[in-house]
Amino acid sequence: MDLIPIPDRQAIRSVRSAKPIRSPYQAQGYLLEREPLEGGRTAACATYFLTGSECRFTCSFCDLWKYTINTQTPIGSLARQIESLHHILQSQGERFDWLKLYNASNFFDPYNVPIEDHAGIASACESASRLVVENHAKLTSSTQGLRWIRSFQQMLRPKLEIAMGLESIDPDAERLMNKLMRRSDFEAACDRLRECGIAVRVFVILQPPGTEPGKALDWCVKTCKYAFERGAERCSIIPARQGNGWIDRLEEQRLWAPPTLPLVESTLRAALENLSATGRIVSVDMWDWESLKGGCDRCRKILYDTMVEMNFEQRAIPREACPFCEPAENS
Ligand code: SF4
Repeated sequence: MDLIPIPDRQAIRSVRSAKPIRSPYQAQGYLLEREPLEGGRTAACATYFLTGSECRFTCSFCDLWKYTINTQTPIGSLARQIESLHHILQSQGERFDWLKLYNASNFFDPYNVPIEDHAGIASACESASRLVVENHAKLTSSTQGLRWIRSFQQMLRPKLEIAMGLESIDPDAERLMNKLMRRSDFEAACDRLRECGIAVRVFVILQPPGTEPGKALDWCVKTCKYAFERGAERCSIIPARQGNGWIDRLEEQRLWAPPTLPLVESTLRAALENLSATGRIVSVDMWDWESLKGGCDRCRKILYDTMVEMNFEQRAIPREACPFCEPAENS
């Protein structure tokens, strides 16, 4: 994949589409789902998609900038968004144990989440038993970053979990990610969080640019294994997707293709076969599954249902090959 030039911030941003205008007082929405736990148990989980300022990093595959504003997140706006989503869920009689606050950037960057808001956010989240926030490994392992994390942890009643993007340990993918972190940053971040009793969730991308499609499954499983060895409690596999501009250019030039639905399903099965003995949780992010291509009208729903079941049960579930679109692969 040497054909793909290593992108920098300017190259990635220059091919973006127009950014939608967002209000920092209006959340993007919420999602209710069940998070798999060990032993086939699940936790009711709400994810709040909050609107704030854009992430200071510009990872080449990331489309989260579309959900951000161009200025610093105003003080008080995130707590207001959280309260208004609480109100919506309460009015619908919905309850949850875990809460994820996803702000399309970094929770421990004061430009994204003002430090003055930490106490208000902690107080708005006190009914949850676990609170999950996202943060870049570099902002997690730095001395100042860790100080803010520990201070926020002390304000919290729920257990804190920090989700970090490792994405891939395939060197061909790493060189194109513009992630601006080294493996040592990720390892240091995992060590610091473990020392503080903070749970670690890791995002792993399936088939990012640079990874050969025939090796995507292997690299994804290797990346999850690496994350578990560094102390992650759970890995969430995210199929690489179109839509951020740079990645779409690669697709147009036939230098990258999105993973297919059958590949996503096979990858989850392989990850569970190889890693379930670790006792850690590995699941596929199903949020955008309908946009995945592949499979036929007869088997797409079966693939989806099998993945949902594997996510919950945390074991590889055998599936008959589809006689219409997979006869050669699985016979
Ligand atoms: S650090 Fe996360 S939010 Fe920021 S650009 Fe990279 S993937 Fe996107």
